[in-house]
Amino acid sequence: FFHPEVQPDHTTCTLPAEDSKHAVKVLRMQTGDVLQLRDGKGGVYDCQIKEANPKKCVLAIDRYEYFDRTSEGRIHIAMAPTKNMDRTEFFVEKAVEIGVDAISFMLTHHSERKVVKTDRVQRIAVSGMKQSRKLHLPNIGELTPFEEFVSNVEADEKFIAYVPENPDHHLFKVASPNKNYCVLIGPEGGFTEEEVAFAKQHGFKAVSLGKSRLRAETAALAACHTLNLLQIR
Ligand code: SAM
Repeated sequence: FFHPEVQPDHTTCTLPAEDSKHAVKVLRMQTGDVLQLRDGKGGVYDCQIKEANPKKCVLAIDRYEYFDRTSEGRIHIAMAPTKNMDRTEFFVEKAVEIGVDAISFMLTHHSERKVVKTDRVQRIAVSGMKQSRKLHLPNIGELTPFEEFVSNVEADEKFIAYVPENPDHHLFKVASPNKNYCVLIGPEGGFTEEEVAFAKQHGFKAVSLGKSRLRAETAALAACHTLNLLQIR
C-alpha cells in the first residue's frame, strides 16, 4: 500500500479512500490483519488494521524502516510526450517497473502533444511502483519548454538521443557506471538540428540507442534499461 503523507513519528494513520476499499472490500482484510505501507520516499511501515472501514481503514504503525538511496545513481528520462498519450503512459508504467528516478516532459519544436495531465501520469507511476514493489516513487515533472528544461536540468552525465548520430556512440558505451544521468528523447518528428546544437552547448552528448529507428516510447524505455545496466541498485 502507498501513502505519501505518512510520517516516521506517526503511530496511526488512515488509508486513502481507494486503498481502504481495496484492502477491506477487494482483499477482505480484517481488524488485526497486517500490511506494509510505503511512502514512496524510501520509508516502509509495518502496520496492523485497527478499524477495517472500507472508506477509512485505520492502521496502527508497529515499525518504521528507512531505505536510503543517496549513494546510488539516478536516472532521469525527459521526453517529448507522444501525440497518442497512451504510448507515453505505457512508457511511464514500464520505466517505473524497470527503474527510473525522474520523468520529465518537454515541449519541443516538433511536439504534437502540448498538454499532459500530470495527475494521471502520477497515478500510473504509483501503480507501477506498487506492481514492481519499489520503495521510491519517481518524480514526475510538468511539461516544460525544451530550452528551459535543457538550460536548468542538473545531472552528472547528460545525453540527447539522436537518430542520425553514429551508432558507435551508443549510450551504453558513452555513459559511466553509477552516475546521475539525464537523457532527452525527442517527439515523433525528432529533434531539430537547432535543438541538438542547443543541447550540446549545454553539456549534452549526442548518443545512439542502436541502429533501428525506434518509436519515441521505445527509445525512452531502451535508454532507461541501458542506464539500469550501468547502475548497481
Ligand atoms: N524522424 C525522427 C528522426 O529522424 O529523428 C524519428 C524520431 S523517433 C520516432 C523519436 C525519438 O526517439 C528521437 O527523437 C530520438 O530521441 C529517439 N530515438 C529513436 N530511435 C533512436 C536511435 N536509434 N538512437 C537514438 N535515439 C533514438
